[in-house]
This record gives sequence, C-alpha cells and structure tokens, in this order.
Amino acid sequence: MLERPVVSPANFANTAQCWDGNAMVGDFERLAQAFVDSAAILAFRICGQQDGRGRPQLRCRVSGSLLMECQRCLQPVEVTVDSDRVLYLAGSEAEADRREATLADAGIEVMVVDRALDLAGVIEDEVLLSVPLVPRHPHCELPPA
Ligand SMILES: [Zn+2]
Repeated sequence: MLERPVVSPANFANTAQCWDGNAMVGDFERLAQAFVDSAAILAFRICGQQDGRGRPQLRCRVSGSLLMECQRCLQPVEVTVDSDRVLYLAGSEAEADRREATLADAGIEVMVVDRALDLAGVIEDEVLLSVPLVPRHPHCELPPA
C-alpha cells in the first residue's frame, strides 16, 4: 500500500518540503479504475514553495507510461503522462477567484485547500487531468460486431 501523507499546506510550502517516489497506478484508489495496467509505474515529486510574495504553492511533477482502453476498438492504448505544474494554494473559494483573476500564466492553477492536504490526491488529479477524456489509437477500427 502506498503511504498517503496528509500535510498542513501552509507548513509544507513554507518549509519547502517534498514528497517524491515511484508508485504503481493501482496504489492510487482513483487511478486504479481509469487505467488498464494497474502495475504501470508513476514517478512523482511534489514540493512546497513560495512565490515572490510569500504565497504558498505546490510544484507537482508526475510522469509515466500508462494503458487506457481505446474507446473505439476497446484494446489497450498507451498514454504518456508528463506533467509539471505549479498550483497556488488558496484558503477559500473567494481567495481562489481573486488569485485566478490576477494570474496571467496559463500554466498556473489555483487549488482550494483546507487545513489538511492529501498529497496523493493531488497526484491523482494531475494524472486524470493530463490524460485524454476519450483515449483512442490514431488508427484502429471498430471490433467486428
Ligand atoms: Zn483502438
């Protein structure tokens, strides 16, 4: 089983902590259903940091080569995850809205967090956001009826 660290977001960012490692897709509850090969390996690294004005951020990197079910022929199709994003941590929806309005950089996202941050959940979100909604081979045919 994967250890699922739950941290204080402010503390994690302010003290520049990191959580990294390699884990199988099947170790992540929300990913186990989305992918065909639960033994595929994801490499991840989440680090806390601050922007120039001392506001808490997470930098989340995750990569791996995963198998999904092709929505046309139903055979496995390989999808590559290679994500590297910065997430601002906001304490409330209102703060997130204000922050989003002032961020011009499309590579930066704002995440609303409570006092407890589930790091494995952040990785699950990043993986699910970076794979196609409707995975398909570039060339394949419908299975014979
Ligand atoms: Zn296919």
